[in-house]
Amino acid sequence: MARVALVTGGTRGIGHAISVALKDAGYTVGANYGGNDEAAKKFEQETGIKTFKFNVADAASVKAGIEQVESTLGPIDILVNNAGITRDSTLHKMKPEQWDEVISTNLNSVFYCTSYLINGMRERGFGRIINIASVNGQKGQMGQANYAAAKAGIIGFTKSLAQEGARKGITANVVAPGYIDTEMVQQVPEEVREKIIAQIPINRLGEPEEIARCVTFLADDKAGFITGATLSANGGQYMI
Ligand code: NDP
Repeated sequence: MARVALVTGGTRGIGHAISVALKDAGYTVGANYGGNDEAAKKFEQETGIKTFKFNVADAASVKAGIEQVESTLGPIDILVNNAGITRDSTLHKMKPEQWDEVISTNLNSVFYCTSYLINGMRERGFGRIINIASVNGQKGQMGQANYAAAKAGIIGFTKSLAQEGARKGITANVVAPGYIDTEMVQQVPEEVREKIIAQIPINRLGEPEEIARCVTFLADDKAGFITGATLSANGGQYMI
């Protein structure tokens, strides 16, 4: 039977491409989303992938949502923690709500979703956790102390989980995208976007499918020797 994959924020942008790529690779996919019903409906019609609405920033909502995914599709073997938001501001103007929203949605969510699934994965002796961080969590970014902290947090979380899961057939890895052409980046003013592109040696934004390709690679049963890694896909913008 096909393995089951859950992609958080799987209906738009990078998550949309990840959901489709995993489906094309033969997995049974569930795509979570937070509130945009219209986008989710369109996605479900176009792709035939089932969608599940729950708020990844809220522990109770995640618990109920994951129960619903597993009762519909079966036990989840592959978790892609992709849902994320930005609430940009320089620190001297940043409000506590901007900090809290980004930490809850981008980092607490990773703990909630992973912790609800980890015991099942340990019992079955197989799991793939793939967490979507960002180049800005690696290098820092002016105006994004909240976002960079959450994304850097994901990297530390993943390395710890990789060690805990290693003997149980569970790998945990990070994909760290650079700037990708999604609504998140389309919201950035054009002059700022041009400056960003000028910093990218490959001289263009990435495509969501280029991130999805990294995820399907790490999700594969044959990727079992790769764990605790951060796979950067940023057009050469930042090399570590
Ligand atoms: P989009 O804004 O295009 O899509 C975000 C997705 O996350 C949507 O499906 C949205 O659901 C979902 N989501 C947001 N908040 C919640 C929530 N509380 N609960 C459940 N789902 C939620 O984002 P991108 O595709 O651009 O980004 C995807 C990931 O990649 C993020 O983690 C982002 O930080 C990361 N990233 C993106 C980069 C880029 O250049 N775009 C660069 C580096 C990293 P809904 O449709 O309901 O709103």
